[in-house]
Amino acid sequence: MGGRPVIELRWDPTLGEWVLVSAIREERPWHPRHACPFCPGGGETGRGWDVLIIENRYPVLKPDPPEPSTHNFYGTQKSIGRCYVVIETPEHGLDDISDLPVEHIVKVVNAVRGKVVEASKQARATYLLWFRNKGEEVGVSLTHPHSQVYVTPFIPSKVLRELSNSLKYWRSTGRCLFCTILRAEVSDDVRVVFRNSSWVAFIPFYAHWPFEVHIYPRRHVQLLTQLSRGEVKGFAEALKTVLCGFKNLFRRPMPYVFALHQAPLRGSYPHYHLHLEIYGMFRSTGLLKYAGGMELGGGNFTYDSTPEANAELLRRALSRCA
Ligand code: UDP
Ligand code: ZN
Ligand code: ZN
Ligand code: FE
Repeated sequence: MGGRPVIELRWDPTLGEWVLVSAIREERPWHPRHACPFCPGGGETGRGWDVLIIENRYPVLKPDPPEPSTHNFYGTQKSIGRCYVVIETPEHGLDDISDLPVEHIVKVVNAVRGKVVEASKQARATYLLWFRNKGEEVGVSLTHPHSQVYVTPFIPSKVLRELSNSLKYWRSTGRCLFCTILRAEVSDDVRVVFRNSSWVAFIPFYAHWPFEVHIYPRRHVQLLTQLSRGEVKGFAEALKTVLCGFKNLFRRPMPYVFALHQAPLRGSYPHYHLHLEIYGMFRSTGLLKYAGGMELGGGNFTYDSTPEANAELLRRALSRCA
């Protein structure tokens, strides 16, 4: 290993999944006191934008990564891909994406959508994951409202499991697993927290995190690029409302992570159904849920309370959102 910092994918042969190793990451600023790198007028941001997508300065994936290390037993691969930061607003002081008007959230979604179009043309791009970390509890290093996009050369493990299970379901029943889940949730009604003409938000029957909310489009679509203008607007509205509810639930805004699950960029996945997963991390007592022994050590979640009871709490908090 030479002078350049190591950035490579390492294969975990026991779990059968990639780990993204990047020694560049430790150099990133932690709560920089003076200048915010995402505010307008900086070297990388300039002025005159509502939403801006820039390259992450401390990436785990690069368009021109170094050769990975070689090992006589372990497998590695080049960390080829892209890491972007989505600066959602020029306004440094906003707390959350839900504080933006629906029309502005539409612009954020459309900016990400533009990256899906762009990445689909890149040779080694296999998947595009849009995600957002909110709250100190989940390690957010910069408070200026932002989310992130990773364009990866592999399908993320969780999505891979969903693809595999939904394909099995599709083959044995001829139906989409996600459309079926949506029908069950709407029919049970008790875990639904929000709905409009094109989207439904619910805490699934099998939720892992205390306030885990899934937002599904009613229409069976696979990629962000397939959404109509009306559906993008409906999505922005659903996202804003659910996250506003998160803020109203407890005395402190709920820390959360969200990730958009869509189909891989290439290939045909008619059995898949795009959705957003939000993991709200406070328990119904307002205390942080940790991924502990059973979760990290065993891989299975324990759920204190029930999704039905938490959905009821969230519905009440949502009703106080404009
Ligand atoms: N970052 C950047 N330019 C900077 C400072 C930070 O691109 O000048 C990136 C940094 O690498 C990090 C992201 O901005 O990935 C901040 O994201 P966040 O705190 O949400 O999560 P993290 O990625 O740190 O876990
Ligand atoms: Zn800022
Ligand atoms: Zn479906
Ligand atoms: Fe999912």
